[in-house]
Parts: sequence; C-alpha cells; structure tokens
Amino acid sequence: MKCRHCAAELTVPLVDLGSAPPSNAYITEERLHRSEKWFPLRVLVCDSCWLAQTEDFAGREELFVPDYAYFSSFSTTWLKHTERYVTAMIDRFNLNAHSLVVEVGSNDGYLLQYFKGRGIPCLGIEPTASTATAARERGIAIIEDFFGVNLASAQAAEGKQADLIAANNVLAHVPDINDFVTGFAVLLKPQGVATFEFPHLLRLMANNQFDTIYHEHFSYLSLTAVSRILASNGLTVFDAEEHPTHGGSLRVFAQRSDTGQAPYSARVRELLQHEKKVGMLTAAYYSGFQATTNKVKNDFLSFLLDAKRQGKTIAAYGAAAKGNTLINYAGVRPDLISFVVDRNPQKQGKYMPGSRIPIVDEALLQVTKPDFIVILPWNLEEEVTQQLAYVDSWGGQFVTVIPCLKVT
Ligand SMILES: [Zn+2]
Repeated sequence: MKCRHCAAELTVPLVDLGSAPPSNAYITEERLHRSEKWFPLRVLVCDSCWLAQTEDFAGREELFVPDYAYFSSFSTTWLKHTERYVTAMIDRFNLNAHSLVVEVGSNDGYLLQYFKGRGIPCLGIEPTASTATAARERGIAIIEDFFGVNLASAQAAEGKQADLIAANNVLAHVPDINDFVTGFAVLLKPQGVATFEFPHLLRLMANNQFDTIYHEHFSYLSLTAVSRILASNGLTVFDAEEHPTHGGSLRVFAQRSDTGQAPYSARVRELLQHEKKVGMLTAAYYSGFQATTNKVKNDFLSFLLDAKRQGKTIAAYGAAAKGNTLINYAGVRPDLISFVVDRNPQKQGKYMPGSRIPIVDEALLQVTKPDFIVILPWNLEEEVTQQLAYVDSWGGQFVTVIPCLKVT
C-alpha cells in the first residue's frame, strides 16, 4: 500500500490488531442473526513523511453511516474542554457577530452551541444524519456532507469564508487527507485560522493506547507529519498546544500559507524538536509497539479469566469505540463481560460490534451488583468513578486496562 499523503510505499509496520468490524457499527436486536463485515486492522508508518495509517479496507461510507452512534455531548469532561476552547478562540481572534465560525465534523452541535450562545454566526459540516439532526434541533445550521475541496469551493463561491474553522478529532478520520486539508485553505478568509485537534501519536505510543486504533481513525498523527501535510496543501502551522484530552492531544493552529500573518510561536519548533529527539523520525521508534500491545492485552485477558475462575461477575462501563478494539483484539465475549452500561439511549438495547456484548442502562449495575466494572473509556476514568461511586456499597471495584492493568 502507498502512503495516503505522499504516495511512498509503506514498509514500516506499527501494529497488527487482527481483524474487527467497524467500531461504531452497533448491532440491533433484529440484526443479531446476521453476519458482520470484519476488516483487517493493521497500522503502517510512512518512512518518508512519518504518517502512521491504517491499511486500506473499509471505505468511509461503511464507517460513517446515517445512524452513527457517537454523540459528543454525552461526556461532561469533553463538553468542559470544548467550552474552554470556545472562550479562548473568541478572546484570541476577536470573534464577534460579524465573524463566521465553521466546524468540520460538527457532530451533534456540542461545540457550535457555545459560539451560537455568544452570538457568533456559525455553520456545521457533518456527514452523519443522526448527529446532524441533533445539531439542527439546537438551532445550528448544518451541511450534511463529507468535507473536502468541492464543498469548500462551493461555500467560498457563495462568499461564506470563515474566520475560524475548528476540526476537533476529525483529521484522523479522513481517508483522503490531502483533499480534506486543502479544503481548509480554500474555505478560510485571508487572515482566517484553522485549528486541528487530534490524539498525539507520541502519547499513544508512550501510554500503550493501542485501543484508540480503529477503522474510523485512518491516521495517527505527530506534529511532524501534520506540519508536512498542511504545508503541502496550502496551510502553515504557526502554533501548537498540548492538551490532556483523549490521553494526550495536540491542538495545532494553522493559517493560509499565501496570506496568513499570525506570528510564529516557539512552541511549534520545540515540539518538533522533541519528536525528533525521541526518535519519531526513525523506523526503530515504531518497532516495539506490537510486543507492548500484546502484553497489555494478555494481562487483561488473564485478569478476566482469573476473576471468572473465582466466580466473580464482571461488567463494563462505556460502549465506546476504543472499548471495541480492546475487546475484539482480546477475543472477549459475553461469557467474560456480561454487559456494558452506557448513558447514550441510542446505544442501549444494542450489542457491541464483534463481541456482541449487550449494551444496557446504568440502572442494571444497581440490580446485578457486579464485582468488577471495567472502564473502557479510560480517558474518562475520573468522571466515571465519581458517577459510579455507589458501587462501593457492595464492594465493587473498578478496572482500567490502559496503559496497564489497574484494579481500584
Ligand atoms: Zn508519506
């Protein structure tokens, strides 16, 4: 396979997670008797531009389906992070009632609702009908489509260029990354700013976050790779920040290479130097990740088997995409984890893809009182343990698997 950015042949393997169905393809009761589509889940690194990427199998139409089940608004931690972003951008770039803010991958309007609340005109672009409908119910205008040069050119031709374009956790989700990024350069006003937020590959590797690898994530990004991809598509990175979200993310600020005038921040150079120093521009850096991944998976499986042998009961919390990667790679089925609780009513009553573990309302915890609750979205551990503090009343314990097995 050739690199999706620079077309060099991919020769450096990062990790092979076997095969899995799309992580957000939750199964309804009626479809339980039907088979699922499983795709190989393997990540390779380009030793020319250092973009880590999944092998080509699943197309975006098979992944971002009309009843897409991921709704951003169900995490209070994420909402707080988003609200802080909105305040920071309004202050830094002097956004007002004459500005236009566009969000690409606007999901259910979790972010744009705060700009709207501050009286700033905004527009969302979102391909999944389920989340777009939820955004419209919040009074936010949505273009229901995939983003790229075509869509950006049509908007620009109507005079709708943006002062700020937000792209939070969406850059990794696009197969044609060059067309996607060029769209930002087309849609921005001459002095406009685009921000891209994505999990940092450096953190993914340092903290064994192999469960964030799934088909919807085509790319695993370093600042090195992102800077190069943006630069060859008309954008220049002028600032970058580290954030703790999703296990360690980067927020990259970019402007049009032809007209942007924002001053360069020393943080960009420092972060690039750090990535070089730890070895991210060498194939050797990526060679030990498979062994680390297997150890984490084996420790988890040993724990589940030991607990079962002792007659313990185990449930999980959070039917998140990353949980599906872990569960399917470990080969866990409902005999080991009886059910997963989730706050999202759209997921309740359905089954986890691949493992077919039932997804239920949180109330079932109070009824069944499991001995262990595996928190699948480990990035929300603090939020979840507070929310479920009542499990202490029957001696229930929490388990997290990433970066290594922990029982508390
Ligand atoms: Zn490349």
